[in-house]
Amino acid sequence: MRVGELGEFGLIARIERAAERAGVLRGASVRLGMGDDGAVVRPRAGEEVVVSTDAFVEGVHFRWRTQSARTAGRRALVASLSDLAAMGARPLGFTWALGVPRDLSVSAVDGLTAGLVAEAATHGAPLVGGNVTGSDQTSLTLTVLGAVKRGRALTRSGARAGDRIFVTGELGTSAFEVARAERGAGRVRFVPTPRLAAGRALARIAGVGGCIDVSDGLDADLAHLLAGTELAPELAPDRFPRPARFDTRCTRAGLDAELLLRSGGEDYELLFTARGPVAREASLSRRLGVRVSEIGAVRKGARDAFPSGYRHF
Ligand SMILES: [Mg+2]
Repeated sequence: MRVGELGEFGLIARIERAAERAGVLRGASVRLGMGDDGAVVRPRAGEEVVVSTDAFVEGVHFRWRTQSARTAGRRALVASLSDLAAMGARPLGFTWALGVPRDLSVSAVDGLTAGLVAEAATHGAPLVGGNVTGSDQTSLTLTVLGAVKRGRALTRSGARAGDRIFVTGELGTSAFEVARAERGAGRVRFVPTPRLAAGRALARIAGVGGCIDVSDGLDADLAHLLAGTELAPELAPDRFPRPARFDTRCTRAGLDAELLLRSGGEDYELLFTARGPVAREASLSRRLGVRVSEIGAVRKGARDAFPSGYRHF
């Protein structure tokens, strides 16, 4: 069956049923969910609301031939939740604006929906609203709402000369799979983890500077972190955390491992700076509940090379 045969309201009802089955139509933060003119979400007393919007467009962010609809849906919500993680926020909910061609199969939309609601359930982010419209290509625009203690949001600014640079988890898997799939070898199956708990822990630690999630690539996101400052990163590429046998697998696939690690992006790990007694791999790993690697330091001085990484225009 095609989307056009189901119609707008049929499609919305179908998405609502899938969300209901996954248990993500309601949540402690939702006073009023889908079905009214607007949703009412409720932060706790003393909290501020964090909002972030991302678009995922067929042909730009994902391709039907390189990943399943379910994987595309999961990756889309992970990317959005990761922005909440980078702000140190907990999810309150999200909205989903969907653009679909009339001739898209309903099973493709089912797959996207299944992926979204699965990640939503895992991370406690209720689906509180959205919109469906006809479109030339498929697109998902996700707006995530989060809550953070008043005045405690992590931000990109705050890095200082002498800070150590850290990253959670591992880099490279997403870029490796996407690069291979673009060449027609294999599919993109990897779904990153939004570091929500780690972000909330980071927001409570004194001595943390700036924080960003790695979406565009390590170099590009470091440039965002140090934008508008007279600071430059000094990196140790051999310390970039990567999966076992990553370099060998890249060489075999004819890919440049360091290039993927530096400019691949879509890892959705947290990249941040820290100083003082807390700025150690062991203590950060313990407090964040995830492996943390020190990959360099922040120095005074201008950045020399223009960063690589994904740029839309
Ligand atoms: Mg981000």
